[in-house]
Amino acid sequence: MWQIVGQTRVVSLLQCSLERQSLAHAYLFVGPPHVGKMTLALNLAQALNCEAVEPPCGECASCQKIAFAKHADVQIIGLAQDGDSAGTKPRVEIGIDQIRQMQHSSNLPPFEGKYKMFIIDGAEHLSIEAANCLLKTLEEPVGKVIFILLTTNDRLLPPTLISRCQGLELPPLAATEVEAALNKRGIEPPKARLLARLSHGCLGWALSAAFDEGLLQQHTERLDSLLDMISADYEARFAYVTQLVAQFSQRRGLVQEVLDLWLEWWRDLLLVKVGCRDVITNVDLEAILVDMARGYSLAQVKSVIDSIQAAGEQLRQNANPRLVLEVLMLSLPGRREVVKNG
Ligand SMILES: [Zn+2]
Repeated sequence: MWQIVGQTRVVSLLQCSLERQSLAHAYLFVGPPHVGKMTLALNLAQALNCEAVEPPCGECASCQKIAFAKHADVQIIGLAQDGDSAGTKPRVEIGIDQIRQMQHSSNLPPFEGKYKMFIIDGAEHLSIEAANCLLKTLEEPVGKVIFILLTTNDRLLPPTLISRCQGLELPPLAATEVEAALNKRGIEPPKARLLARLSHGCLGWALSAAFDEGLLQQHTERLDSLLDMISADYEARFAYVTQLVAQFSQRRGLVQEVLDLWLEWWRDLLLVKVGCRDVITNVDLEAILVDMARGYSLAQVKSVIDSIQAAGEQLRQNANPRLVLEVLMLSLPGRREVVKNG
């Protein structure tokens, strides 16, 4: 009755620990965004507090309350502010005040359930003081309290903190698993197939995109601008870079997202060239990919992939984004040019 899709290894480990009553006092769930870390944490909270014979039933009052974030003994600590609404800025880090409050609450017995659970969402955002305070809490375990830290990147956490938790890795799902889960929820097959590929095994993203047209539209618009760059002259390419850099100052992750999209496209071209069309990501644009692949040699496609990867690495090392992107744009072979020369 676990709600989470896939992750059979982690689920059976938790199930087994539940049955033997040998759960750890603190867990660290590591996995890419939207892979199901929060779903799994809430499922475990349900399993611990469920009133049915075979927990988690998902239907009893306790399971329902946890699913709707209304259970007094299951608390989520993260960057979102309490009673988040317009006007309150999201936090940039999880502060010591939040951890102190949690610590205080963890010393009180469960209010309505059997176990207390504290889920720290985005543990990589813990401030140094908050992480130290949390470490002390984890060093002095109290009964009937379980802490679950969720992170996309455990390398950003202090090793001392990691050593206090049982680490569990949630890998991305297979595209077929995501596709099946989407079909089961009534998403029409062609859309399910596309979203499953675009999600890179993160069902949460695929589900959001299935019900929020905006996400898919944003993807299409970004890809369209990138494809326009292939036939564009240098002036237009640099104008595009200026536009990207302006957005970069507001949100650093955006340029990386665009580069990832671009990388995905050129990897698809590579797959088409080597005859592996069945595993491409952009399944809705297969005809364009096949047509485009004719205009490039294998070596050219590989070289573009190398350039995009190098650009991504330089950005991660804080290189000047304008410079990095302009160099990338200069290295991008124009298609017409290629056809003429080839
Ligand atoms: Zn239940």
